[in-house]
Amino acid sequence: MSEAFDLFVPQPVLRQVENTHRQPGADNQRGRIEISHLSKHFASHKALDDVSLTIEPGTVTVILGPSGSGKSTLLRTINHLERVDSGHIRIDGDYVGYQRKGNKLYELKEHAILKQRTHVGYVFQNFNLFPHLSVLDNIIEAPIVHRLLTRKQAIERAYELLDTVGLRAKANAYPRHLSGGQQQRIAIARALALNPKVMLFDEPTSALDPELVGEVLDVIKKLASSGVTLVVVTHEIGFARQVADQIVFMVDGKIVESGTASQVLDAPRHSRTRSFLEKVL
Ligand code: ADP
Ligand code: MG
Repeated sequence: MSEAFDLFVPQPVLRQVENTHRQPGADNQRGRIEISHLSKHFASHKALDDVSLTIEPGTVTVILGPSGSGKSTLLRTINHLERVDSGHIRIDGDYVGYQRKGNKLYELKEHAILKQRTHVGYVFQNFNLFPHLSVLDNIIEAPIVHRLLTRKQAIERAYELLDTVGLRAKANAYPRHLSGGQQQRIAIARALALNPKVMLFDEPTSALDPELVGEVLDVIKKLASSGVTLVVVTHEIGFARQVADQIVFMVDGKIVESGTASQVLDAPRHSRTRSFLEKVL
């Protein structure tokens, strides 16, 4: 909690921004992410170093890179779980975590940050389901709290989502009665319950026993064609090859290369990408 609280301390003027404008005409496409010259320090360590990346609506971007390269930090900034030192992120033209007045960015107030976050689902490595709530109650909680749906609507939607992840029969089970793969599929359903434009996955299968990885990747593959913009940090190269529209390779807080799966996986240009792929393939 204290970490979340710290993030919400309002900062007055953050910094100057260049004079860009909201992109018109993108209304029918949800979930375009523009990451522009993002940098972030932890003490003297540069976790993100001038990262720029465009993610088109409804596409799948896979982020690869060695441990400590800044992948999680990048995902967290997309949800404003992490403040940035410079640069900015926009989703469908709206600044993430800030509002623009003139050429200055002001950090949003807590309620506005929370509202903005409802557009971005987040799936963690360790599922993070509420242990004291049933599967159904885990899924209906957020849309009811955010007053997006009535309880009845939320329950209907939850059953649709349980069908999507193949777990309708587990509606009344508690997380402790589910396998890791099932818990992660419920965590995905829960994140989808807010009808997000963007879904972020941070190593969604790395806490799972190998035989459970496939069922979670299959659910993510299903989402890939659903119109939601997906950003997935993973070491599952086979999955990346199958579903990624774009693969981004990070080292030391920088994007060292990006491109299609065949560009990055079959013809990597950077020596760090090549040595990484040799290790994981
Ligand atoms: P990855 O997800 O690629 O393994 P991270 O984004 O978690 O990398 O971390 C990038 C770097 O930033 C690492 O060196 C990590 O130790 C550091 N880092 C991440 N979060 C924090 C934090 N809250 N405080 C201090 N250092 C951090
Ligand atoms: Mg990480």
